Amino acid sequence: MKLSNPSEIKALLTRHGFEFQKKYGQNFLINEAVPKKISWSSLPEGIEKCACLEIGPGIGVMTVELSKLYSKVCAVEIDTKLLPLLNETLSESNNVEVINCDILKLDIAKTVKEKLDGMPCVVCANLPYYITTPVIMHLLESGYPFENITVMVQKEVADRLTSLPGSDEYGAITAAVSYYAKPRKLFNVTAGNFMPRPDVTSTVVRLDLYKTPPVEVSDEKVFFSVIKGAFAKRRKTLLNSMSGEFPQIPKEKLLEIFNLCGLSGGERGETLGINHFADIANKIVDMNL
Ligand code: SAM
Repeated sequence: MKLSNPSEIKALLTRHGFEFQKKYGQNFLINEAVPKKISWSSLPEGIEKCACLEIGPGIGVMTVELSKLYSKVCAVEIDTKLLPLLNETLSESNNVEVINCDILKLDIAKTVKEKLDGMPCVVCANLPYYITTPVIMHLLESGYPFENITVMVQKEVADRLTSLPGSDEYGAITAAVSYYAKPRKLFNVTAGNFMPRPDVTSTVVRLDLYKTPPVEVSDEKVFFSVIKGAFAKRRKTLLNSMSGEFPQIPKEKLLEIFNLCGLSGGERGETLGINHFADIANKIVDMNL
């Protein structure tokens, strides 16, 4: 069966009485070249035996490609109605295990260790766009040392993930992700490559995870609160924006901290990089505030 052929897909869906669920962000790929290219883009260099965690296999068009490249694939699908279809389409892919659950509720590190034998592992997915950012953060915060996370996302999200401080696209998610990984835009995929057709253009991004974070942070919780605070009120000064997140710290004390970090407090949070956020967070911890 050709899983990227629209008429064969329609026949498969009809045979199983399957209907697309908009709430699950179901836009399936219908151009064979695309899942192949995404799968190949996720391959890490110099690793002989590697596993893959796929999020949202749909009818398995990319899963089949991944199963050819990786020793083992674990595919997490929320929609129970897709299980009988996957059973059929993956019947010859013996190294694939499908787990029926919500990726956001899955204990990532435990699952990868158990299902993928703790092998070096990548994440590869055509992500459902309604939960792109929470999924990426859930993967990064799991602490699992993935080789890379290669995902197709909405073009605007890819622009945000790869933007630089001071640009319009730069936001809390950009700063948070840059603590864990180096993001790279790989290529765009136009709406005509999906069924049903989405309203947006998509972009494949690859996040290469750092073995050690690029900045030293003494308390990650405080560090992420600083990022949250700095972006809480866009276009407001750093001092105004941050004081909402840290109401227990008097404004004069915050100003003192900013000065110690070489800042005036009059800057806008969205112009600062993670080195500044780490500096501020470490001072807050040092001063026991
Ligand atoms: N990989 C397939 C492809 O490229 O054709 C389908 C991609 S489609 C954009 C997103 C997939 O993610 C759907 O199969 C959807 O049911 C699944 N999904 C949506 N929310 C999910 C969640 N929270 N956890 C796991 N899978 C989810």
